[in-house]
Amino acid sequence: MLIAHPRPDGDAIGSTLALRLALMRLGKYPKAACVHPIPDNLAYLPGADSFIQAVPEDPDIDLVVAIDMSDLERTGGIYRDDWRQNYPLLVIDHHETNEAFGDVNLIAPGAAATALPMINVIEALGVAVQEDIATCLLVGLLTDTRGLRTETTTASVLRTVGELIEAGGDYQTVMQRTLDSVPYQQMRGWGIALNRLQLKDAIAWTTVQVSEKEALDIEDHYDLDLGNLLSRVAEAKVIAAFTEMRDGSVKVSMRARPGYNVASIAYELGGGGHKQAAGCTLSGPLHTSVTRVLAMLQNAVAGKQQVHSEEAVAVSEFKNQA
Ligand code: AMP
Ligand code: MN
Ligand code: MN
Repeated sequence: MLIAHPRPDGDAIGSTLALRLALMRLGKYPKAACVHPIPDNLAYLPGADSFIQAVPEDPDIDLVVAIDMSDLERTGGIYRDDWRQNYPLLVIDHHETNEAFGDVNLIAPGAAATALPMINVIEALGVAVQEDIATCLLVGLLTDTRGLRTETTTASVLRTVGELIEAGGDYQTVMQRTLDSVPYQQMRGWGIALNRLQLKDAIAWTTVQVSEKEALDIEDHYDLDLGNLLSRVAEAKVIAAFTEMRDGSVKVSMRARPGYNVASIAYELGGGGHKQAAGCTLSGPLHTSVTRVLAMLQNAVAGKQQVHSEEAVAVSEFKNQA
């Protein structure tokens, strides 16, 4: 039983499908589960239509694998309490905030994507990483690095991308159908979010309300990917996007420039992520969530500036001594 996190992204789906294909090559019958539907820009991937959204009462399970998630809650309710006694749990992930909640934990903290430790797993199983499997892993690497832009994009990551392409991974299709493929309704949603964009003290933020999502027919499980959109605001050191849900809760998506850290803020608020990309869900209402998170982001930016000025003092003292 392979589980991807809710509002799934390219890394969760790509890494899960890659492992599914590898296990099938070994004659196994893996099931892939995700509580939310697969986004249109990932639907072309081999096996994308095999995801189940709910697990039958009496499932036939040997092993549960939690993929690209930092805590058990991120299975979105797929994982059931009584499984703990009955089935071993393997975690394959790359979040710094990962709580090592499995019986076995393969966590590569700070790695560009879960696709990276997944390559090691598949090779260790003795399955060749090529063709379909390589394409699925490319999706994970290319989406989590926002098209090879993030600080996690090392020379080794670029080499791995090259190797996956040489092994038959379809880079062009991934670029065209996943990264450069934003549904019209989502882009209209971006219009609303950008129209209300604000910037103060190197923090950029915006909100999207339920009424606005309803007008565009955007469901709660649909991720607008606002964090990655706002991450490009030049003046911003950190950004936050607040999306209101039908139950009044608020999905918070945060991004930080290198040197700043939003993972600790997300973790403190019950979520998780990476230094540069993190998120959480707050109980709402929208304006309270905004005030609360902005205060924490202000501290993060101010704290960093303080470190900078202390460094500057230390450097000038050093120079004076010299
Ligand atoms: P997002 O802003 O939704 O693209 O998420 C950014 C990063 O934070 C991803 O690595 C997510 O896995 C992680 N993340 C987002 N929301 C949560 C949450 N509620 N709990 C734990 N991790 C989260
Ligand atoms: Mn993910
Ligand atoms: Mn990931």
